[in-house]
Amino acid sequence: MALLEVREVTVAFGGVRALSDVAISAEQGRITGLIGPNGAGKSTLFDVITGLRRPSSGQVFIEGREVTRLGPTRRSRHGLARTFQRLELFGRLTVRDNLLVAAELGSNRRHAAELVDQILDRLGLTRLADTSSDTLSTGAARLVEVARALAAQPKLLLLDEPAAGQDPEETERFADLLRSLAAEGTTVLIVEHDMDLVMSVCDDLHVLDLGKVIASGPPEEIRRNEQVLAAYLGD
Ligand code: ADP
Ligand code: MG
Repeated sequence: MALLEVREVTVAFGGVRALSDVAISAEQGRITGLIGPNGAGKSTLFDVITGLRRPSSGQVFIEGREVTRLGPTRRSRHGLARTFQRLELFGRLTVRDNLLVAAELGSNRRHAAELVDQILDRLGLTRLADTSSDTLSTGAARLVEVARALAAQPKLLLLDEPAAGQDPEETERFADLLRSLAAEGTTVLIVEHDMDLVMSVCDDLHVLDLGKVIASGPPEEIRRNEQVLAAYLGD
């Protein structure tokens, strides 16, 4: 059984179909990539998975349980956490306090402070712990968003363009982090434009174009797929 299963999801914004009968899955302890050109529907699909947007039709399952009608808070109790393409940290809080807020909402709240320190250390953010979040570089802010999602100790971590604005060294360390999270059993679903990162960390890929899944499979298959090359990788 897949940890996440999306079945035939359709989302319409007025006349525009942002998603048409989209079916994807993510297996436990694996890194699944969701790629496709701008406007393909990737962020909308994340909103459907996290409960920020109700699909016009279709279903979402986490560990075999249907969550389509649950709101974001109840879904986070099912072990789901995300980052946003547009960063959404609490700007006036310090890095540590951003993580504490998330940790205290999680299941391990009695050990929140310890957990936060561990995550800061793991992500190399300890030196920024007392920094106000609105003064961070984009690369650091992306990492803090990931740290905050991890503070909720998710089973399923959804990352929307986490490497945008990171320098190559930050991206490399980030790739190692994703691999170690997956090795510990965390399921990762990642939207990312950095193809080197996607191809090197993802176990499985789904390709969206114009609101439809045009290919699903391992990276080595996807990079040779004619339809994907034409729609996306070719440009
Ligand atoms: P991606 O993340 O792949 O770039 P999005 O999910 O942001 O794509 O957008 C998919 C499509 O849905 C685009 O055509 C976009 O313009 C449209 N869209 C996204 N959000 C809204 C919204 N709130 N209202 C109307 N159209 C939207
Ligand atoms: Mg997007």
